[in-house]
Amino acid sequence: MSKKYYLGIDLGGTNIKTGVVDEDAKVLSKYSTPTLAEDGGPKGILTRMGQAGEAAIKQAGLNIDDIVAIGVGAPGALSHKDGIIIAPPNLPGWKNVPVRDAISEYFNGKFTTLENDANAAAWGEYWAGVGKGTDSLVMLTLGTGVGGGIVYGGRFVRGYRDVAAELGHMIVEPRGRLCACGQHGCLEAYASASNAARIAVEKITGGTQSSMRAVIEKGQPITTEVIVQHMHQGDQFAYDLWHETCRYIAIGCLNLNHTVNPQVIALAGGMVNAGQHLLNPVRMYYNDLQGNIFGGLCSEIVLAKLGSDAGLVGAAGAAKITLELGDW
Ligand SMILES: [Zn+2]
Repeated sequence: MSKKYYLGIDLGGTNIKTGVVDEDAKVLSKYSTPTLAEDGGPKGILTRMGQAGEAAIKQAGLNIDDIVAIGVGAPGALSHKDGIIIAPPNLPGWKNVPVRDAISEYFNGKFTTLENDANAAAWGEYWAGVGKGTDSLVMLTLGTGVGGGIVYGGRFVRGYRDVAAELGHMIVEPRGRLCACGQHGCLEAYASASNAARIAVEKITGGTQSSMRAVIEKGQPITTEVIVQHMHQGDQFAYDLWHETCRYIAIGCLNLNHTVNPQVIALAGGMVNAGQHLLNPVRMYYNDLQGNIFGGLCSEIVLAKLGSDAGLVGAAGAAKITLELGDW
């Protein structure tokens, strides 16, 4: 019996990634092309998404008739139900764009579904990555910002208006740092790679002693790698900053455990390149901070493993599950 194939399209602010994935989550092809968000607006980008999808289908040695359904992962805010991208901050000029129907039309009416990109990535890890075989997974993506997705009982948790799982905007420090969203003390204001760097620059230019001062004076960026490297070279401030960052991530994980109690909480995004240097302190604070009646019952924290493929694998998986279960 021949396999069923799904096309995943992951629309990012920088790149459009596409791939054909079979019903067992095996990736048959991968293709990537620049989004060119500044140039062309929705029409040009929708055409490039279609062309990139065709390229992935061709690369897999298939044609459109072999594809059962198409899943598009895109930045929010969006409406899954209406198939519309509402107003993503990284796609200037986009307002209420009917992406689902436009892609379906490009592929001659093929069944298409639209999913928040962070939800899609969580689905990818649940279906094919570190969550394979689990009942439930929450993914926390620690990159330029902090995003997330929740899969529970084999379904997406999208929320009433598709804005659930905005995990970066959980408040972890009342009256804390101002976040880009307008709230104070969001997890993202502390635990994103860019905000950890921002905190380092603020403190060091404010007079805090650190070997990272030389990096700033050379005009080079403070990255997660730089912080971890200076911590290992014995810089006390780098140590304190990294541990504070990991403590905030642990607080976020505890809140997620107390809300959802998923089988696993998967950490993803660029910060995960720090590997055990991230996982070990996060687990340590998570264990230290948790209440004394939850011993052994809390979610396990793990590192995601699909990397940047999670988005397109999950978009294809979203097409499969949405088609199979109906539009719930
Ligand atoms: Zn926020």
